[in-house]
Amino acid sequence: MPSSLPSNSEDFLEHNLTNIDASNLALLDECYICHEELGTNHPASQITGIPDCSHVFGHDCLVAWISSSNVNNNTCPMCRTILYTKALPSVDEIVRLTASLRRLVARMETLEGMVDTATRLGEEGREERRQQRRTAQRTEGELQRQIEELQRQGQEARRTEGEARRGAQEIREVGRTLLLEVARLRQQRDADLD
Ligand SMILES: [Zn+2]
Ligand SMILES: [Zn+2]
Repeated sequence: MPSSLPSNSEDFLEHNLTNIDASNLALLDECYICHEELGTNHPASQITGIPDCSHVFGHDCLVAWISSSNVNNNTCPMCRTILYTKALPSVDEIVRLTASLRRLVARMETLEGMVDTATRLGEEGREERRQQRRTAQRTEGELQRQIEELQRQGQEARRTEGEARRGAQEIREVGRTLLLEVARLRQQRDADLD
């Protein structure tokens, strides 16, 4: 076995996967990637010839992982040991990645803008409700003051009415006294004429 890593994914898949017979799977019964039972329904493959990693996975799951576009697809899904040398991305790929990164950043900025707007609207709504509450409190206070003023005016009117009534009573009494006095004077005059 050469000590250097396979130079690409095809190299790895061709030279570093060993099929494991179903009869040797007693202690390795589950695929770490899909959690399906390893055996005849999900044949197992062991990583071999790589320093520090000899993990076993479902063959199809491991091939799918190695062939995926995941940025870590040159590592073991379980222990992250590097399994083959990954070619540096081509200029085209870098351009493509940069473009998608820019789109992501733009999208993130849009989302952040939406979050800011939502936050601002929420704060404006809260401020508006606060103002409405303050206005309602002011109106309530104003009404309370008007009610108190009307009550005061009512008391004042009742007091004035009482005074007027007492005044009228006094006038009536004075009038009666005067009438009695007039009657007495008239009798006296009649008596004097006789
Ligand atoms: Zn699997
Ligand atoms: Zn491993």
